[in-house]
Amino acid sequence: MRQVIDESKGLRVKQSACFICSCAAASKQVRHGDLLIYKCPYCGQYCVKDSDGAWIEAEQPVFFKKAPALAFERKLKGLDKYELRWAQDVKQACLGNVPFLSDYPDSFPDRLDRVLLNIARRLDFDPTLALSDASFVPAMFFVEPDLSNEIDYLPTMRAMISVLQHEGFVGYHHDTYEHENLHLTYQGVVKALELHRKISQSKRAFLAMWFDPSLTAYRKAVENAVRAAGYDLLVVNEVHHNDYIMDKVLNLITESRFLIADLTCAPEEVRSGKPSKGVRGGVYLEAGYAKGLGKQVIFTCKEDIASQDRIHFDVKQVNTIFWSEDADRKVKAFSAFDFIEYLEERIVATVGRGPRERT
Ligand SMILES: [Zn+2]
Repeated sequence: MRQVIDESKGLRVKQSACFICSCAAASKQVRHGDLLIYKCPYCGQYCVKDSDGAWIEAEQPVFFKKAPALAFERKLKGLDKYELRWAQDVKQACLGNVPFLSDYPDSFPDRLDRVLLNIARRLDFDPTLALSDASFVPAMFFVEPDLSNEIDYLPTMRAMISVLQHEGFVGYHHDTYEHENLHLTYQGVVKALELHRKISQSKRAFLAMWFDPSLTAYRKAVENAVRAAGYDLLVVNEVHHNDYIMDKVLNLITESRFLIADLTCAPEEVRSGKPSKGVRGGVYLEAGYAKGLGKQVIFTCKEDIASQDRIHFDVKQVNTIFWSEDADRKVKAFSAFDFIEYLEERIVATVGRGPRERT
């Protein structure tokens, strides 16, 4: 069924201002007709298709209240360069298949922690540096921008700084509220580093695999195993390969707790001069990238000659989980065990149980 959107709703994508935070200093480029690439001083670089942007605007107005703070935080963390898309099944703006707003801190203490981290990142965790209040933006303080009243957020920002000051985490040179010289105390640096370590314990796992219909049951089984182990699975569909998308994939890996790399492949075929199938170079690239970041990689591979014969000798020695499907299309590990349970145990043994509630 073709979905129809109210024409009057897709206004943000038509403007040149930042799609997420409405900043007029943002630049917008159009590629391939409908891919909008934004560079915003606050939100960093990201892209969205104009149809997806119109859907976000029409169906998820809360996005524009919460997303600027998350985009600002992502830029500070170097995690911009992503593609924002509209996921019709969950009716939310998503990165890959994870809702963009899922990281939003809903309680005041959580927001306060993230504000302290934003201040610390701006100051390179260095108590000798200071921050001018001219560079303060609502997004930095997780204050939802009220476009009708720009002054409204200032008291909230000041209240947050007061609480942090009272806790002994930040201070002012000259002890004034002139906002010229906000700095971290030593205690603030220690607290920020502690929070940084805690928050970087991501609840996401990344799956690198060949996107072929023959792997549908496997993919579903991995999703169930990852969820049972307490993590969310991130799968990025094979998309047109350009640098922008690769940046996005590498960002998502950077954010993940661990990676599952499936080495399943099929013999290469050449049709009208174009090669297809063959060893999945992308899977090796993504696994290597994750390894280079010090992340755990769990290898799996279909138990068939075509795949097993093509495993690169450098990973032949690793403890790969070989899987197959039985007559009922149930996925098995080493033809004997329940794959979902086997992979769940391997994940827990490798990186520990994740923070996600068991469902
Ligand atoms: Zn912006």
